[in-house]
Amino acid sequence: MNIILLGPPGAGKGTQARILEEREGLIQLSTGDMLRAAVEAGTEVGQRAKKAMDSGGLVSDEIVIGVVDERLDRQDVKDASGVIFDGFPRTAGQAEALDELLEKKDMRLDAVVVIEAEEEKLVDRVSGRFTCAKCGEGYHDRHKQPKTEGVCDVCGSTEFKRREDDNPETVRERLTAYHKDTAPLIDYYEGTGKLHKVDGMAPIEEVTENIRQALPERA
Ligand code: AMP
Repeated sequence: MNIILLGPPGAGKGTQARILEEREGLIQLSTGDMLRAAVEAGTEVGQRAKKAMDSGGLVSDEIVIGVVDERLDRQDVKDASGVIFDGFPRTAGQAEALDELLEKKDMRLDAVVVIEAEEEKLVDRVSGRFTCAKCGEGYHDRHKQPKTEGVCDVCGSTEFKRREDDNPETVRERLTAYHKDTAPLIDYYEGTGKLHKVDGMAPIEEVTENIRQALPERA
């Protein structure tokens, strides 16, 4: 089963993808994570992507599609029961390229889930978030602190990290890019009959349940 999670920054795509990965045996394929790893490693892709990422704009289709193409050929994807595209596609060009990639790799798209969110709340949501540096569990300055200060609830690590682009100005730019380039994809997928919308402002578990209900029954 291959699914796309669509939605603005801070809607909860990453959080839900992590949960679905664990519960459904799917692989989270986050282009944001892959690009950040490339920037950190200083690869050519990373160097080419960094400027757009720092400003909250979009990395070129050519770079992103290349990264996804390569990732889909890795063995862990072939062994998994499917992938969750998180943060991809983000433009019409990427959506068309994904159709072609899936066909080429003999994969099919089962569902597209839009996680809807109240815009005014997103800047607050995104600008307070941080994650465990070891296991990636997500936290928030105001809404979800670790139970013991400075210690990850899940793995006990004491190291946390924040994304550089999770500051209010860059989040606003990311929202602008979402409206201009990504939101139109909702119409694109509406035509396929595979689109579902869920309320991303509901509690995390409820959002997960609503997403699972939108997914096709497993054979
Ligand atoms: P994300 O982690 O999904 O919020 O992505 C972080 C940043 O990476 C975005 O603001 C973009 O600069 C870049 N990025 C991630 N995915 C894509 C994509 N599919 N197309 C273009 N840029 C992307």
